[in-house]
Amino acid sequence: MSDQANGDDVFLDAIKRLDTAFEHANIDEEALEKLKHPRQTLQVSIPVRMDDGSLEIFTGYRVRHDDTRGPTKGGLRYHPDVDLSEVKALAFWMTFKCAVVGLPYGGGKGGVTVNPKKLSRMELERLSRGFIAQIADFIGPETDVPAPDVYTNSMIMGWMMDEYSKITRQRTPAVITGKPVPLGGSLGRDDATGRGAYYCIKELEQKRGWKPDEITVAVQGFGNAGQHVARLLHADGYKIVAVSDSKGGIYKEAGFDVPSLIHTKNESRVLKAVYCEGSVCEAIDADNISNEELLELDVDLLLPSALENQITEKNAKDIKAKVIVEVANGPITSEADEILKNQDGILIVPDILANAGGVTVSYFEWVQNKSGYYWDLETVHERLLEIMSREFNNVYDIMINKEIDMRTAAYVLGLNRIGEAVESLGTMKYFAADDLRATKD
Ligand code: NAD
Repeated sequence: MSDQANGDDVFLDAIKRLDTAFEHANIDEEALEKLKHPRQTLQVSIPVRMDDGSLEIFTGYRVRHDDTRGPTKGGLRYHPDVDLSEVKALAFWMTFKCAVVGLPYGGGKGGVTVNPKKLSRMELERLSRGFIAQIADFIGPETDVPAPDVYTNSMIMGWMMDEYSKITRQRTPAVITGKPVPLGGSLGRDDATGRGAYYCIKELEQKRGWKPDEITVAVQGFGNAGQHVARLLHADGYKIVAVSDSKGGIYKEAGFDVPSLIHTKNESRVLKAVYCEGSVCEAIDADNISNEELLELDVDLLLPSALENQITEKNAKDIKAKVIVEVANGPITSEADEILKNQDGILIVPDILANAGGVTVSYFEWVQNKSGYYWDLETVHERLLEIMSREFNNVYDIMINKEIDMRTAAYVLGLNRIGEAVESLGTMKYFAADDLRATKD
């Protein structure tokens, strides 16, 4: 079946961005063509014995988009909406993300179509081990290295590493990243995605001369990525005026005490407007808002940190934020991007740069697993800061010099790096050049 016939909306939307970037990049057309086709896609069925004795079959996917620059790398998502097109799009973004921050990886992604909130802990463990058993031949420390994503966490990564090690009869921590620290995880992986986005915002703060306490922030999605970026910004004095999760959001003009929100959300799984002294929390006045309303707030900084396709052609014209930092993958569709580009003065820091902190510390974890030598937290933070600020400025400079938007600039940087790797193996320009044999004696 062709890609199109397969209902490839998210993936086709994702690759649309390549053609615009290609006009400004310095690469061979063959490299561009290669990137429009994922290298390998795998679909599996995972039989799971449920707690009541019944058998349920779940569908899982793993896609390796491109491995020219190194083993493919990317998370595993558990969500009811996971399908092949979404996984292909996410794998494609990973190829670019790894190139933009200069990691020696290609892009991969995977997921299972499941609502994990409906599973018991033991069902979740059986599903996770069952999934790894199905994809064990596809992944490996030198071929394809998974990591956490939406609704998967470090414990799930630990189960998966354990299962893979049993299958291969070799302890193999480098097969997966985002593991618990006692099982070979890296210090600093838990908040790396939010921290990477925070480092991007700090660069912007310098460029724009922002005073943090004058900057209002709205965060859509209050999971791993959203919580940490909000926490770090709040600690610097930024005003986090709105946050939301899958059930809706809360708004307070004066700003929230973010550690209190995190405390209750993680204790009770409910997002509540509270202020906590130690573990004692009190409700505070705040307005309830929907996720749609949150996106349309008149704030300085909007941080979509949940899922893709949140800002579409339907609501793009109502977006009032001056800067959008894409902490989530693909929160803005390409149609919405075009509408936003025409809105005066709006800056979008694209996902393939803004949320690259996660894969960067995953890379650190893989390096530590392979060398067997582990770093302290300060070293992780220093190296992450160095990479994020260097690549933020590289992308920013391309944006200014070529007079293009920041997303296109990030794709240009990624394309040039991937293009160099593709060209190193030879393209038509090399192979169809004058035949050297004719000139030999
Ligand atoms: P998570 O599962 O920890 O959190 C997801 C959050 O989004 C939850 O608070 C959930 O309630 C909320 N949510 C779900 N549907 C929503 C909706 N329709 N509206 C508003 N909120 C909604 O996931 P995460 O790891 O924080 O991932 C969030 C995003 O960041 C994803 O796009 C993911 O691909 C991206 N990302 C994550 C990492 C990582 O290391 N975790 C790395 C790079 C990118």
